[in-house]
Amino acid sequence: MRICILGSGSSGNATLIVAGDTRVLVDCGLSAKETVRRIREVGEDPGRLSGLVITHEHGDHARGLSAISKTLDVPVYVSDATFDACALGERGKKIQRAEAISSSQDFEIGSLKFHPFSIPHDAADPFAFTVESAGAKLGMAVDLGYFNALAAEHFRGADALIIEANHEVEMLRACTFYPWSLKQRILGRHGHTSNDEVARYLREDFDGRAEYIVLAHLSQNTNHPDLARLAALQALEARGPLFARGSERRVSIARYDGPGAWIEL
Ligand SMILES: [Zn+2]
Ligand SMILES: [Zn+2]
Repeated sequence: MRICILGSGSSGNATLIVAGDTRVLVDCGLSAKETVRRIREVGEDPGRLSGLVITHEHGDHARGLSAISKTLDVPVYVSDATFDACALGERGKKIQRAEAISSSQDFEIGSLKFHPFSIPHDAADPFAFTVESAGAKLGMAVDLGYFNALAAEHFRGADALIIEANHEVEMLRACTFYPWSLKQRILGRHGHTSNDEVARYLREDFDGRAEYIVLAHLSQNTNHPDLARLAALQALEARGPLFARGSERRVSIARYDGPGAWIEL
């Protein structure tokens, strides 16, 4: 399995997961044009996507849905609740949907086996997931209020984790141009994950296995890559030498403005 984050953050999320001939795009929060451009930039053919998986209806994950499904003629894997919440109107009828998925039922696309699970986030039916192929396992959760026991359980045994590190709490509190209501939403149990929460997860629930820990969905306004990375590294160090091994290499940051490096499992 190979994974490439094409972009991550409030300006748009899209991740490419490839196994053999199977190529799946997870979320399409970038414009169709930009998505196609970034898929080409990482050496893949946008015309050969096997499926598009939508985790929830927020614009930064679903903005390009109708344009991409039309441009690339790709089957869309989305739950009924999320599809309805996307409020696509007439355009929605033209979208080529694969069988409806649900946030609690496993599904397969080619050689990729997806295990979705519900997460605390303020959308209609949001899910995070693990995906497996040929013995390799990725866990991905980029919009969630906190890492609950279900997420921790699913992530056990993952070779790579892509997890949200949205904000630094003090930077968010001090941010002068976010209204109070937005701050409350982000900080809430159904909002977004802070650097502190990532550190707590790594200290208390992480099983130590993943060779790749990618911190994603960083806010450009209320986080800094160095702070997010430092919080994660310190948490791994606090667990002891076994967890801290190679952590400088293991922990990386997903970019919002372009694709990251391929992760090969
Ligand atoms: Zn969201
Ligand atoms: Zn998001």
